[in-house]
Amino acid sequence: SPKTKNIAQKLKEALPKELFSLIKKIGETAENLGINAYIIGGFVRDLIIGRKNFDLDVVVEGDATEFAKKIAKLFNAKVHTFDRFKTATVVFPDGNRIDFASARTEVYRSPGALPEVDMAPLKKDLMRRDFTINTLAVKINSKDFGKLIDFFGGLKDIKDRKIRVLHSLSFVEDPTRILRALRFATRYRFELGSHTEKLLKMAVQRKLFKTVEGQRIYHELKQIMLEDNPLRVLNKLEQYKVLSSLFDNLNWNRWEKDLFERLRKVVIWHKLNFPESSINYHLPFFGALFLKEDYEDVNRYLSFLSVPEKEKKEILDMCRLIIPTIKRIEKAKKNSEIYSLLKSKSEEFILLLAAYPESEETREKILKYLKEWKDVKPLVSGKDLINRFKLKPGPIFKEILNKLKYAIIDEKIPEDNKEKQLSYVEKLLDENRKMD
Ligand code: ATP
Repeated sequence: SPKTKNIAQKLKEALPKELFSLIKKIGETAENLGINAYIIGGFVRDLIIGRKNFDLDVVVEGDATEFAKKIAKLFNAKVHTFDRFKTATVVFPDGNRIDFASARTEVYRSPGALPEVDMAPLKKDLMRRDFTINTLAVKINSKDFGKLIDFFGGLKDIKDRKIRVLHSLSFVEDPTRILRALRFATRYRFELGSHTEKLLKMAVQRKLFKTVEGQRIYHELKQIMLEDNPLRVLNKLEQYKVLSSLFDNLNWNRWEKDLFERLRKVVIWHKLNFPESSINYHLPFFGALFLKEDYEDVNRYLSFLSVPEKEKKEILDMCRLIIPTIKRIEKAKKNSEIYSLLKSKSEEFILLLAAYPESEETREKILKYLKEWKDVKPLVSGKDLINRFKLKPGPIFKEILNKLKYAIIDEKIPEDNKEKQLSYVEKLLDENRKMD
C-alpha cells in the first residue's frame, strides 16, 4: 500500500481562497456520489516543490464527463466534454477552470509496463505517466481530503531532486519523454536518476525519435521554448546529443546562444509591458534556432516536425527576412521609416528583430516601435476633415491622416495637441493646392 501523508494545509496555503473552496465542494460532491476524486500530476508536483501552478487536473474513478456535468450544474458553470476521451473542462463563473478525466480502467499493456494485478484504477492511470515526480495524487473526497497518494516514490524523488522513469522501456515506449525529462530537469534543477540517464542515452543513440510523429516532438519543443529559460534546456539537449539527433545539420554555438539570451530578455520586457498579449512566444525562439541554417534544411526540419502551415510560414519568413530588415532599420534616418518597415510584420517577428542586433541603439528603436509608434493615433479625424476643411471623403483622407501620423512619429508634432495637428493638416492642404 502506498505511503500516505496529509497535505490539506499545504493546499489551503497555496491556492487562492475561492479555488480552494471550489475543490472542497467538488470533493463533497464526489463523496456524496460515492466516487473517488483526486487532483493529480503537475499541480501536485509543483505544490510540493513550491512552484506556482493553478492548472488543476482532477481524475475520478468513474465517469468523468458525467461527474463534470454534475459539478457544472451545481456551480452554474460551463462544461466542455470530450466524450471520446472521457474528459471534460469545467469553466466556473469566476473564470477558474478545472480539467476532469476518468482514471483509465481498460487493461493497458505496453511491452515494458509494470505488472497489473488487482490494481486500483487510479494506480493504473498513474502508471502510464512519464516520471515519478508526476505520479503524485491528492484525494479530495471530504472523508480523506488532502491525503497524498504516492505509489511510485515521487515524494522521495522530489526530495532527492531526481527525474526517474517508472520502468525501463519508458523512453522506447514514448521517446518524447526524452525531451520532457530534460525540460523538467532544467526547470527544477533536478538530475536524471542514474538508471534513467543510462536509458535516456541509449534511447538517443538508437535514434528513437525517428519512430515518433513529428507533431508530438514539435509539441514538446514548443513547451521548451515556452519555459522561462529555453537556452538552458537547449544546452541540456545539446549535452545529451538530442539536438543533433533531431536536426542533423544544426549549429548550436556561441552566436545562437547569445541570440537566445537576448531574446529571453526581450520576451521578459514584452510580457511586462504587454501582460494581456496573446502572441506565440515560442515562434521567435524557433526563428532564433534556425536563423543561420540553410533555408532547405529549415524547410526539411519544419516538415519533419509537421509544424502547422501558418507557423511554418512565419518561421521561414523570419529566416528569410531578418537580415534585410535589420539592414534597412540600421540605415533608416527617420522614425517613420522604421514604422513603415515594421507595421506589416508580426509581433513575433518583431521580438526576434529586437533581439537580433548586438547594438542597443538599434534594439531601442525596434522596442520603441512596439511601445509607442505602433499605437500613435492622430487626434484629427475624418470628421474634422469634413467639417473644418470641407473635404469630400476619399483616398485623400487616408493620405492626409497617414502623413499626420508620420509627422507625429517623427516628433515634428505633439501627439496630444489637436490644435497643432489641425494646423499641420492645414499646411499640407495649402501645399497641395499650390502644386495643383
Ligand atoms: P507543466 O508544468 O509543464 O504544465 P505538466 O506536468 O502539467 O507540466 P503536461 O505536459 O501538461 O505537463 O502533462 C500533464 C501530465 O500528463 C504530466 O504530469 C504527465 O504525468 C502526463 N504526461 C504528459 N506527457 C506524457 C508522456 N509523453 N508520457 C507520459 N505521461 C505524460
